[in-house]
Amino acid sequence: MPNYQQIINDIHANLKTTKNTGEVADYIPELGKVDGELFGIYLNNVHGNNFEVGDTQVPFSIQSISKVFSLAMAFANQGNALWERVDVEPSGNPFNFLSLLEREKGIPRNPLINSGAIVIADCLVSNLKNPKEDFIQFVRGLAGDDSISFNEQVAESERITGFRNYAIANLLKSFENLANPVEEVLDFYFHQCSIEMTCEQLSNAFFAFANHGVCMRGNQCLTQKQAKRINAIMLTCGFYDEAGEFAFEVGLPGKSGVGGGIVALLPNHYVITTWSPPLNEKGNSYFGMQALEQFTTETKSSIF
Ligand code: GLN
Repeated sequence: MPNYQQIINDIHANLKTTKNTGEVADYIPELGKVDGELFGIYLNNVHGNNFEVGDTQVPFSIQSISKVFSLAMAFANQGNALWERVDVEPSGNPFNFLSLLEREKGIPRNPLINSGAIVIADCLVSNLKNPKEDFIQFVRGLAGDDSISFNEQVAESERITGFRNYAIANLLKSFENLANPVEEVLDFYFHQCSIEMTCEQLSNAFFAFANHGVCMRGNQCLTQKQAKRINAIMLTCGFYDEAGEFAFEVGLPGKSGVGGGIVALLPNHYVITTWSPPLNEKGNSYFGMQALEQFTTETKSSIF
């Protein structure tokens, strides 16, 4: 096994001495209050070992990383019927892009861009008895940690500034690809994005994706086939218009969020989570992208 601790220590220390040219997202005002200096790397492997450096125990806004959890839950609930309402192709466009949706008649390109995630949120609102509660329980189950919660202030901050998401939801509604009221679906979506987790909790929650659907606590949270399919979607669609670049530089399935988190995984081996709030111009963590590039190069462990 590579000396993971040494490798992540070195990457962390080296990046800390370089200039971070990214910018902390502030289009959701609450996110702009986060300290841009925070930086953590956490790795857990399927043999039960874990390694960490930096600010791995500070909870942060997982934002779009939550789209993997909502997709997993909707896919587990309704199986392949899901793919009638959302496609599985990369979009090559920013996460909140609108025109493609108009051109493609209300069928989002994939579940990891906002339009696709809003359709998934609609499925969950339809299928769950207590959507927000049931969803947070699902995430807690994946992570094996009952302390995980929504941040109401972040959800509210996004609601009052979420003009593009309202536009997307209304466009979906006009194409009859939204069964529930726009307000109800977006309330769920803003809450899922507001969930706060640490690097450690995220790595634990993604364990099932590296481990054929078997969660931290040893139960089969997802089927093997669901884990395989979702990993494929993460690889091709997890970084919006930087998905190609992430495959090129890092070479792992993964998912980013505008809170500055990135989770990536090598099936059968490990999950690695990085968190550094300043983002590059595509909305992905500037240090996170570099840390993961160095990590897979150093450990020779991309899927390619
Ligand atoms: N909640 C954010 C939004 O909808 C999520 C975006 C992201 O993390 N890429 O704008």
